[in-house]
Order: sequence, then structure tokens, then C-alpha cells
Amino acid sequence: MIVDIKNTTRKLCVIGDPVLHSKSPLIQNAMIRALGLDLVYLCQPVKRGEGAQWLTAARVCGYAGFNATMPFKEELLPLMDEVEPFARQCGAVNTVSIRDGKYYGANTDGPGFLQDLEKFGLSLQGLHTVVLGAGGASKAVCLALAEKGAKVTVCNRTVKKAEELCKLAPESMTPEEFTINKLCKLSGEAGLVVNCTSLGMAGTAGEFEDLSFVDALPSGAAVYDLIYAPAETALLRRSRERGLAVSNGLGMLVWQGVLALERFVGGPVDRERAHAAALEALGEG
Ligand code: NAP
Repeated sequence: MIVDIKNTTRKLCVIGDPVLHSKSPLIQNAMIRALGLDLVYLCQPVKRGEGAQWLTAARVCGYAGFNATMPFKEELLPLMDEVEPFARQCGAVNTVSIRDGKYYGANTDGPGFLQDLEKFGLSLQGLHTVVLGAGGASKAVCLALAEKGAKVTVCNRTVKKAEELCKLAPESMTPEEFTINKLCKLSGEAGLVVNCTSLGMAGTAGEFEDLSFVDALPSGAAVYDLIYAPAETALLRRSRERGLAVSNGLGMLVWQGVLALERFVGGPVDRERAHAAALEALGEG
């Protein structure tokens, strides 16, 4: 992608270890271009343990902000001057904007997920939702759903991690085992299933051993898989074939980027335009 760089152009980037696989530069530069902003978005490898040094470097080098992926989301949080409430609740920041030498932390994963979920037209208040997995992405998804009044059951292979996560909003979340019997039982009254595990992701060995819980879902249920590579996981295929509403995680990825860009520029942007430009750059437009 060709980007215009002027003497006034402010820098943005994504940091991580590893980070070279990140789609954020493609997404953000497409949005920046579509919106005519004087910004450029780079890919910046930062070594594990060097997050604090990077913060100073970013400020000194005049960065307007950056996104953080593994393993920096948690370690950056205490280093922020201000943190948005949702990021504080998650214990993780994925977006840092730098203004007047101060660091402002946000987490756009949860809001990005909710924004994309709107396409299902579900009423989340009281909706029985089964979330698979209890890692970092699950935490953002579960807290976002709980904030909207959903009743969330968190099923995880390591039940202890699900129990820890549910302590963050015990009135809305219940921990459970990740077993096929349990999933089949819970599916009977679920309006939404969200896969936040890495099962089904390209390049990983893991696949769901048994997808029969999909058959137990009510006909009006929706299935959201955070994975977007492959575009259609086995879970989504089985759910689509059953006639359920389905989505992969590409929309969430793009929306969290749109919401991050709003933090970087310090105000609202033309969201639909930015979203469309990013999808087009990803070959999905
Ligand atoms: P993570 O913190 O490493 O969590 C991975 C989760 O998957 C854990 O709950 C883990 O269970 C579970 N898991 C892994 N292998 C499993 C197996 N064989 N059987 C059952 N459960 C298994 O990862 P993350 O950052 O939360 O990311 C999770 C997924 O979401 C990834 O595929 C990632 O690409 C995707 N994601 C998408 C977006 C988006 O914008 N669309 C954003 C963030 C993440 P244990 O706790 O038992 O290990």
C-alpha cells in the first residue's frame, strides 16, 4: 500500500513479540488514507520485557499512539497516566494514545466485538451466552457481554481460569467445564455461542473434537468465532449448515481498529467509511 508521508505526518504503530503477522498496519493505513488523515501506521517489533522502554521511545520520537498485542497488553496498564474503565476492568490495554507527553490506555477489543455483534440484531439483555475459552480475548468479550446484561457461561479447558475470569462479574458470569456433555447441555438454551479459544485457527494443531453441541442450539441462535483465518472454521461451517446466524472475527478486528483510530485522533471519525476501507484492503470489501 502506498502512503503519503509529509514532514508533518504523525506516526502510529503496533508493537508485539511477535508482531510481523499483524494485519493492523494494513487496516489502519487503509482507514487513514480513506479519511485523509496526516498519519502513518507502522509495524514495530518490541522485545518482551521492553514495554516500558518502548513507551519512552514512542513519546520521544513523537508517536501519536500505538496498539499493543502479545505480550504487552497487561504490562502496559500500570504505566499509563489514564486508563479507560473498560481497559481497567480487563486489566489490559491494546491502544495507547500519547498526548502532551501523557499516555492514555484503552481496550477496544470488547467494544469492537460488541460493535460487530450488532449485525445479528440480538437483544443482549438477559441473553444466555456460552463463551468458549478464558484467555485474554475471552476476558474482553465476556466483560463486554456482561456490561450489556447478557448471562454468560464461560467454558474453559482449564476450569480454574474460567473461575478467575467470572470473579470479575460474578452476578453475570458462571464458570463451567469445557466438555462435550456440558456444552450440549448449555447449548439447549443458548442464544449466542462465542468461540474465544484458538481451536480451529489456521496453523495450530487444535480442532474441536466434537461439534455436536451445535445441533443442540435453538434455531434462532447465533455463533460467533473470533478466528478469521481460516475465514470459515469447522465450527462456523457446521453452524451455517444448520441454518444459524454466523460470523468470523474479521469484523471485530476491523472495528477494534476503528475505535483505536478514534482514540489516536482524539475524537470521532467516519466509522462506516473507515470500516469499509479496511475491509476492502483486507480483500473483503
Ligand atoms: P489465549 O489467551 O492464549 O487463550 C487461548 C484459549 O484457548 C484458552 O482459553 C485456552 O484454554 C483455549 N485453548 C487452547 N487450546 C485448546 C484446546 N486444545 N482445547 C480447548 N481449549 C483450548 O488467546 P487469546 O488472545 O485469548 O486468543 C484466543 C483466540 O481469539 C485466538 O484464536 C485469537 O486469534 C483470537 N482473537 C481474535 C481477535 C479478533 O479481533 N477477531 C482478537 C483477539 C483474539 P486453557 O486456558 O485451558 O489453556
